[in-house]
Amino acid sequence: MDVIYRYDPFAPITARQIPDFKAAVNELVQGNERFKQLVHRMQERTLGGDAGEPIVVPISPMTSGLPLFAGAVPAQAPFAVVLGCSDARVPTEAVFDQSFNDLFVLRIAGNVLGSECLGSLHYALRHLKDSLKAIVVLGHSKCGAVTAAVDTHLSPDAYVNIACTFPLRSLVDQIQIAVRGASHALEKHVGIALPNKTLYRSLLVGITAYVNAAVSAFELQRELSLYASDGPQVVFGVYEFESLRVQSSPALTPETPRLRPAPRSAEELAKYATEVVEAMMSLEDDQLEATYMLTMRA
Ligand SMILES: [Zn+2]
Repeated sequence: MDVIYRYDPFAPITARQIPDFKAAVNELVQGNERFKQLVHRMQERTLGGDAGEPIVVPISPMTSGLPLFAGAVPAQAPFAVVLGCSDARVPTEAVFDQSFNDLFVLRIAGNVLGSECLGSLHYALRHLKDSLKAIVVLGHSKCGAVTAAVDTHLSPDAYVNIACTFPLRSLVDQIQIAVRGASHALEKHVGIALPNKTLYRSLLVGITAYVNAAVSAFELQRELSLYASDGPQVVFGVYEFESLRVQSSPALTPETPRLRPAPRSAEELAKYATEVVEAMMSLEDDQLEATYMLTMRA
């Protein structure tokens, strides 16, 4: 299987056009699909599948956000701001198949919104206003920061180790809003006395990743309404390691937006948490063994 990056200096150079919010979101979703298809082909090849036709990726300095000539410096012109987690397994540009100068990226463990992040966002909104068309919060499954926040919720004793470290505590504390929302929605669905603690923890981590991305998106949207009401819209999604997709619900249907608009109120946020729980539970119905589910429903 060959992946060929092809540059033809004689081919006409056309700068990519991302005129509005819809085009920006579409480009991110399509980019994530390209990433997923490439990885799927490699996985199939690993299992003995046919090498198939080479994948040819046409590139040029202009479309890759690089200088055309030595010494030139491109003007910064990203089309989206992305607030993502620091997790090394989720590099923002790779997940969305984007290049230099495409994304203005803020990465912090748990994709929480701190004052430094907000400062960077304000800079982007002030100086890159012409090119920015969307703001995205990107959470991910199996997130260490989310897991730490869930564990401090489930086992407060473990919190002492984190509570004595102010920087770590500030991260985990910010995720508690999402943990509480996810836990409330989950308990409404399955009852508070879930006997299988391992399953409960695993579900809560999965659900909180979505709710946490929604919380950061909600905060960002509120920030924009205060300081830049004419700024780009905020959307959010979660990168799932299993599907390789960025999605706004654990159960992806053709109707589910891959990147979903930020909640506009606490009620919308709570409603979203319930939707995530229902989607997650419908998935688990398919995937878990019958006895496991029977145990959980007892
Ligand atoms: Zn993470």
